Amino acid sequence: MLSPVRLISEAADLAARRHNGMARKGRGNEPCINHLAEVANLLATATDGADAELVAAGWLHDTIEDTDTTRAELAQTFSERVASLVVECTDDMSLPKALRRRKQIEDAPHKSPGAKLIKIADKISNTGGRIQTDPSAEERDDLADYVEWATQVVAGCRGGNAWLDEKFDDAVKAARALL
Ligand code: ZN
Repeated sequence: MLSPVRLISEAADLAARRHNGMARKGRGNEPCINHLAEVANLLATATDGADAELVAAGWLHDTIEDTDTTRAELAQTFSERVASLVVECTDDMSLPKALRRRKQIEDAPHKSPGAKLIKIADKISNTGGRIQTDPSAEERDDLADYVEWATQVVAGCRGGNAWLDEKFDDAVKAARALL
């Protein structure tokens, strides 16, 4: 097993290479890596640095869904737990979006404690990424739609980390102020 520092450093490096050139969902043309760094940092802060595998999984949480990275590769390079956490945060992209969204709401309460924290951090970052000054009507609709759905997913993930729950509530408040 890699040391905690190496685990996180290798995860950031792999995520940067695999997501190279990809833009994040939401605001402008921000690179995907900004989203991954934010999620990993939220998890590190929420747990006060106590769980390196969780932070590594934060860096890697979109690799299986959005790049050609496999579970086996993550298990071999990092650990079985890191691979499992990422799989738990991976949507089946062969399903239509409406069904994927419904499944996230239904599946959230059955996730492991670590996956629940990653999902909340992901929703905090994705909500923040949709908050912009002077949004167009279309951006406002997208934000309203996202926040309504994310709130339902997070409802099934709450209770494991009070700071993260509060951060999500703050993001929702900031979003609603624009709607
Ligand atoms: Zn994400």
